[in-house]
Amino acid sequence: MALVIQKYGGTSVGDIESIKNVAQRAVRTKEAGNDVIVVVSAMAGETDKLINLAHELTPLPDGRELDVLVSTGEQISVALVSMAIKSMGHEVKSYLGFQIPIQTDSAYGKARITHVSSDKILKDVEAGKIVVVAGFQGVDDEGDITTLGRGGSDTTAVAMAVALNADVCEIFTDVDGVYTTDPNICEKARKLGKISYDEMLEMASLGAKVLHIRAVEFAKKYQVPVHVRASSNDNIGTLVCQEDEEMENVVVSGVTCDKHEAKITITKVPDKPGIAHRLFGAIAAANIMVDMIIQNMSREGLADITFTVIKSDLHKATNIVREIIREIGAKDIDTDENIAKVSIVGTGMRSHSGVASTMFGALAKEGINIMMISTSEIKISCIIESKYTELAVRALHDAFQLDKKGLTKDDATPTP
Ligand code: ADP
Ligand code: ASP
Ligand code: MG
Repeated sequence: MALVIQKYGGTSVGDIESIKNVAQRAVRTKEAGNDVIVVVSAMAGETDKLINLAHELTPLPDGRELDVLVSTGEQISVALVSMAIKSMGHEVKSYLGFQIPIQTDSAYGKARITHVSSDKILKDVEAGKIVVVAGFQGVDDEGDITTLGRGGSDTTAVAMAVALNADVCEIFTDVDGVYTTDPNICEKARKLGKISYDEMLEMASLGAKVLHIRAVEFAKKYQVPVHVRASSNDNIGTLVCQEDEEMENVVVSGVTCDKHEAKITITKVPDKPGIAHRLFGAIAAANIMVDMIIQNMSREGLADITFTVIKSDLHKATNIVREIIREIGAKDIDTDENIAKVSIVGTGMRSHSGVASTMFGALAKEGINIMMISTSEIKISCIIESKYTELAVRALHDAFQLDKKGLTKDDATPTP
């Protein structure tokens, strides 16, 4: 007998018919002799609807109250899925995050799980019940409700798998697995049989929303194999697992895009020690994540600094920067929300040159201007105008021949 965690995303519980399908699959897995814990997201569109309601009242809703609000989406779906399972003749029990409890820190809207108690759930499982857990939510040390960030139900599922030492963690979604790029953008996207934790980490952090980044971090840390698959069929999906030789041989394994960032440029910043520290220190103190940063060459002791933040943090970041430019004597601030980040990811990049130039060449051929570039060992990202996002993704997918097996080490130029 195995302990199976099954996580179902928003579209998989989007209406009553889909909820019945989820219940049927959970029951089938149980009747095959397994213990089953189901983790569910809010019904499709529900979380967006709740966030929009809050924004109709204020551009900067209070973090604590926003989490109380958005966590209700999952409360609805756990109840409905549990009722559906019960109506199929199985014992079932639903849990919200605070009832388990799933303990987190107090970073509202992007809380990190610190501990998951397994006692109550194990007791129910031992008693033969199917357990249905609300994804995306937890509780902090004060007893306040927290949420884990958009897409966070994946993280709940992997954290449950770790806490309960599950045999399998299945992530059911609206696509057949992890593809070389978003199949809803590029019809030539190819499903991957396997992908390494490291590549999946990069792809998730660069916008491939098929898995939440913290879910992949947890899975890597505790070596939990994650099977991403479709809730609408029984096809084998993609296994996210430890890197093997075959994966290493591919130079680029995926292309991602992300339209969630905005760019802030501060002009004529005095070019002297301590300025960057003052600026980014204040932004970090407000718990705002900065992604790319560039500072151009200084002229006459003045430089421009450009950096990106998540769009939802733009308002807060702009207010902080306005205060600071007065203090440090910079000239002005300019913001741009019409940007996107396109990236290529692959562990094989570690040992190959020429990858960046192929990427820049593919963008140039389409007349797409690159505003910012950042690289790491296994990824290259470019900030471009958001209207070119889909075109850029398809061009990069073609340039690295990802519709076939992808450019391998044998085809590419090895680093001397
Ligand atoms: P769920 O609601 O099930 O959590 P998400 O919408 O969060 O589903 O994630 C699934 C979506 O991720 C797909 O519909 C697809 O558009 C998108 N996606 C982006 N990049 C990829 C990729 N490389 N492979 C598969 N899906 C991707
Ligand atoms: N319901 C949350 C969201 O839409 C969490 C999730 O779906 O994973 O982001
Ligand atoms: Mg998701």
